[in-house]
Amino acid sequence: AVPSGPYKRVLLKVSGEALMGAEPYGIDMNTAERIAREVGEAVEAGYELCLVIGGGNIFRGLQAAAKGMERAAADYMGMLATVMNALAMQTALERLGVPTRVQSAIPMTTVCEPYIRRRAVRHMEKGRVVIFAAGTGNPFFTTDTAAALRAAEMGCDALFKGTGVDGVYDSDPRVNTDAKRFERLDYIDVLARDLKVMDASAVTLMRDNQIPIVVFNIREQGGLARVLDGQGTCTVVGP
Ligand code: UDP
Repeated sequence: AVPSGPYKRVLLKVSGEALMGAEPYGIDMNTAERIAREVGEAVEAGYELCLVIGGGNIFRGLQAAAKGMERAAADYMGMLATVMNALAMQTALERLGVPTRVQSAIPMTTVCEPYIRRRAVRHMEKGRVVIFAAGTGNPFFTTDTAAALRAAEMGCDALFKGTGVDGVYDSDPRVNTDAKRFERLDYIDVLARDLKVMDASAVTLMRDNQIPIVVFNIREQGGLARVLDGQGTCTVVGP
């Protein structure tokens, strides 16, 4: 299939919280499967997809550090949490018959492949969904930055940030009823106005590489396909 949208190869960042569904903690497999279905449909439509999954539904380094744990150790624990989420996502995708590979920035060869850039590119060319686990492999970073890094390394046409709202607003639309959604934003607007799109290092990396960030609602059924096809509601942060 030939994809109809403006971006062919896309990195999708899914936060850990997105996997919780209605649960207060951890992974809700029904929610994971719903996201997997969306990803599977995109692959079927001809898009090349890779994923970065966060870990906030299981463990956040910063929170543990605030309670006295050494920051670096806490961050490594956070990265391990992303591996759990990646394996859950892999299970959900493969149940639907979507071929996947998990590659971890922290080598864990019993569980998944180590991150090898050129191999990851080959997987994507073959229609496999590559799930990047363990963030960047470094403490003091986030999975947002990992998503930006991998998007640049994979030569992605866009970084899709799946959130709970359908774009970037001038104030919180869940609190403020007349909050206004931006159609487009420049990277510099996001940085200067401190709009909560992704963390600043991720935005900067995307700006340096001129890769658009597409913010959309991952909770909406069929949302990914619509935005990929250029029809859905979203905010594009770009050049
Ligand atoms: N983390 C890290 N380095 C990375 C990516 C993640 O140290 O490159 C750790 C960090 O402690 C973070 C945790 O992993 O709190 C989970 O990632 P994140 O908070 O980005 O997940 P999300 O908010 O997307 O669920």
